[in-house]
Amino acid sequence: MAELEHDETNRLINAFLGSDAQEALPPDHRSGYVAVVGKPNVGKSTLVNALIGHKVAIVSPKPQTTRRRILGILTRPEAQILFLDTPGIHEPKQALNRYMMREVQAALTDCDVILLVTDVSRLPSDDDRRVAERISRLPQPKLLAMNKADLLDPRQVIEHVAAHEALLPGHPDAGASYSQGSVEDIFRPRTAMLTSGVRGDNLDKLLSMLLAVLPHGPRYFPAGQVTDQHEYIMVAELIREQALRFLEQEVPHSIAVAIDDWQRRPNGVLYIAATLYVERESQKGILIGKGGHMLKKIGTAARQEIERELGSKTYLELWAKVRPGWRRDELLVARLLEGRM
Ligand code: GDP
Ligand code: MG
Repeated sequence: MAELEHDETNRLINAFLGSDAQEALPPDHRSGYVAVVGKPNVGKSTLVNALIGHKVAIVSPKPQTTRRRILGILTRPEAQILFLDTPGIHEPKQALNRYMMREVQAALTDCDVILLVTDVSRLPSDDDRRVAERISRLPQPKLLAMNKADLLDPRQVIEHVAAHEALLPGHPDAGASYSQGSVEDIFRPRTAMLTSGVRGDNLDKLLSMLLAVLPHGPRYFPAGQVTDQHEYIMVAELIREQALRFLEQEVPHSIAVAIDDWQRRPNGVLYIAATLYVERESQKGILIGKGGHMLKKIGTAARQEIERELGSKTYLELWAKVRPGWRRDELLVARLLEGRM
């Protein structure tokens, strides 16, 4: 019965999506949402980008780069995996952080599978344990990506892997990876994997693990679509990524980017105007830089990224404005993050 319903859903969705979906999906096609969670800076966004093969989420060495839940879509002949990249789980102090944690909560509620990401080059911290504890109570299957394996000291592999695997209580792999197990142990599907988003290590193995626990289901998005984000939001994020790259200390966390204008000129050039909001006059000064030098540097780098992603010659105009305390204001946070300014 369930299978029949699923075939019918498949047929309707294919009909709805039109020619793109004409290609018949295998009867055991799988699909579903995978919430990618973990503490800040462990490499969640890098991992999602590497799995999708596109920059759907911006990345930076500064913590709390990801502010919203971001959908990355991976379409394979046999499956469609919908990755929900999320902000790193941390103590919410301001409206912005509360917004971010609601985004995590929404991803955890909506998902079919939870992928916990940790930094295996270090031993698990209390923050990792808090995240693990929080997801342990949820009903969905849980997998673990022990990420940044490229930074793992070979002498610490056994100790670190055992400590990270133990993060998920009742995790079938916990503490068992190096035991001389029984036949069942050998054939038991793996639920933890060493990965490197930067180097691409074991991403295929991680995908196989995900596929094994993903429910049967239709293709929800046409093949070729890699995210559900509007182009405006992606462009605003690419600008914020370059601001994060060039600015130091507190300024990056105070930045929000809004797209003010977007026009295709008759000569084919895409004209985009955007405003970078900061919270204080002093931050605005730093953002603009001497003789406008900093804003210009951010603009040039962002334009190159935008041209690469959109495949279109672009003219980018950036403005800096002060919006005092926007991170503490629930309404402004929602507006700025959803591109509604
Ligand atoms: P997130 O906050 O968990 O989304 O982490 P990001 O994806 O933004 O990455 C945080 C920082 O860690 C960035 O500087 C990345 O380049 C770096 N990073 C991410 N994944 C890896 C990895 O597998 N290996 C190494 N060496 N660095 C990584
Ligand atoms: Mg991130």
